[in-house]
Amino acid sequence: MRLLSTAAALAAGALISACATMGAEAPAPADFDAARLSEHARVLSDDSFQGRGIGTPGEAMTVRYLTEQYAAAGFQPGGENGSWTQDVTLNRFTASNVRASFEVGGDTVPLTQGQQIVVSTRLPGRHVMLTDAPLVFAGYGITAPERNWDDFKDVDVRGKVIVVLVNDADFEEPELNTFNGRAMTYYGRWTYKYEEAARRGAAGVIIVHENAPASYGWATVTNSWSGPQFDIVRQNAAAERVPVESWIQRDVAVELFRKAGLDFDALKTQARSRDFRPVALPGATFSGMFDVATTQITTQNVLARLPGATRPDETILYTAHWDHIGVGEPDANGDAIFNGAVDNATGTAALLELARIWAAGPRPERSIVMISFTAEESGLLGSEYYAANPVWPLETTVAGFNMDAMNVYGRVENLGVVGHGQSELDERLAAAAARQGRNIEPDANPAAGSYFRSDHFPLAKRGVPMAYAEGSGDFRDPPVEPREAARDEYGAKRYHQADDEWSADWDLAGQIEDMEVALWIGRDLANSRDWPGWKPGSEFGPARAGSAAARD
Ligand SMILES: [Zn+2]
Repeated sequence: MRLLSTAAALAAGALISACATMGAEAPAPADFDAARLSEHARVLSDDSFQGRGIGTPGEAMTVRYLTEQYAAAGFQPGGENGSWTQDVTLNRFTASNVRASFEVGGDTVPLTQGQQIVVSTRLPGRHVMLTDAPLVFAGYGITAPERNWDDFKDVDVRGKVIVVLVNDADFEEPELNTFNGRAMTYYGRWTYKYEEAARRGAAGVIIVHENAPASYGWATVTNSWSGPQFDIVRQNAAAERVPVESWIQRDVAVELFRKAGLDFDALKTQARSRDFRPVALPGATFSGMFDVATTQITTQNVLARLPGATRPDETILYTAHWDHIGVGEPDANGDAIFNGAVDNATGTAALLELARIWAAGPRPERSIVMISFTAEESGLLGSEYYAANPVWPLETTVAGFNMDAMNVYGRVENLGVVGHGQSELDERLAAAAARQGRNIEPDANPAAGSYFRSDHFPLAKRGVPMAYAEGSGDFRDPPVEPREAARDEYGAKRYHQADDEWSADWDLAGQIEDMEVALWIGRDLANSRDWPGWKPGSEFGPARAGSAAARD
C-alpha cells in the first residue's frame, strides 16, 4: 500500500484551504512543515527510544530531545525553578495475599480476588485490614450541587464501606436528563466514585460492575485492577484516597442484597430519584485484608514557554503525552518494542512544530506553554500531577488544546470534538473547522466517557476549559480506500501493540489541519481578553467559578 507522498498532499491541502478561506477572515498561513513533523515522530518512535517507557533510558532520551527541540524552536524553559522539566514522583502499589468476604445473615461469603471481586488501593501503607465494616448502599455515590443532586443526604459514611452503581441515573433512564442523558458525565466514572467516597471519609468503596453502564466487561476490570496501580504522591493521600477500592460482579451484589433482605433491582430504580437516601444493608459487613508493596519512581513532564508581551501571567496551553508503553511481550514477529509512533509521537511532534510556528510569529500578548506530559498510559498521572501542582496558575490559564494519537492518513471531512457541549470552545472549534470546509462531529460514543480518558481531563476537572478535537469522518483526497484501510488497520492491529511504527508514507495534511485549528483559536485567545467558559450545566463550571476574581 502506498499513500500520496506527504509533500504532494501537503501542497494540495494548502491550496484547498487557502481557496476555502478567501473572502472570509483569512488567518495568516501557518506554514507547518510536514517534513519536520514526520522527522520528530520518526526519531521519537525509533527503536533506540525503547517505546518511551517511564523511568527507563528511553525517558532520558525523550526528555533530552524535547528540551533541545523546544529550545531550537525559540521557547524558554517552562518547568520548575527555571528548568525544562517538572518532576513527577509516582507511587506504585501492588496488592497481594488478598482475603475478602461478606458477613451477612450469619453467613460468611468468601470473595476471591479476580473472580467475584477485585480489590486494590492507592493509599500508601504496607497492609490494609478492614474488619466487619458496615455496608451502605449509596446509589450512584454522587454529590452534584449544580444539578441539585446528593445521593448521601445527611448520612455519615465514615468508617463504612459504600456499595455504589457505575455510571449515573440517566444511563438507565436518559429521559430524566439530570446528567445530560446518555452522555456520561464525570460523575459516572469510577474515578469519581472513589474520590467522593474519600472526601466523605468512607473506609472503602465497592462498585457493582454491570457490562452496559460500565461500557466494558468484567475481564477489563480484572485486567486493569489485578496488577499494580499507580498514583501521584499526594500531600494528604488519606483525604483523597480510600483504603479499599474494589469492584464486584453484579450477581454477587444481587445475592448480597437478597441475603440482607433487600432487592437490588428495586434499590437501583430508587437510586434514579433525587429523593434517594442511602440504605444500610441490615446485618451485613465487609472484611478485607491484603499486603501492599509501595515503591516510588520519578518521571518528568517537559514544559516550554513563550512569555506573553503584555499579559504574561495569562496562559494558553498545548498538551500531549510523550510516554508510551515501553517494552512488552514479543509479538509474532519477535518485536517487543511498543514504538508508540501514532500514540503519541505524533502529538508530541505537533507540540514541537507548534512551538516553532508560535516563536517565529509576532509575540502574543498572553503566554504560550507547551507541556509534554509523562505517564498518560499509567492513568493520566503526569497531567494529574501538573493539574494538582501547576507551574503556571490554573485560574489564569485561559484554555488548552490536547493532542493524542493524531491523524496520519490524510485530510478528513470532519473535526471530531470529544466532550462536545461542555465548553464555549465548541463554537470556536466549529468556526475554525468551517474555514477548512469541515464540520464538527460530536463524540461518537459519549456514554463511554471518552472525555475523561485523556490528558485534558485533569485540567478540565479543575476548571480549565480544554479542547480535545481531532479529524474524523471520510477522507477527502483520493485514493480513499487505502487511507481507510490504513486507519482501520491501526485500530485493529497497531494501537497499543508493537506495530505502532512510523512510516515514510504517512500523509500529514490531516494532522496539520487539526494543528491549524489549535493555532488559530490559540492566536485569537492569546491576543484577546476573552475567558471562554463552561456551558450551563457542565460539571466543571463550579470549579472555574471559584477563581473568577483572578480573571478580572
Ligand atoms: Zn495516547
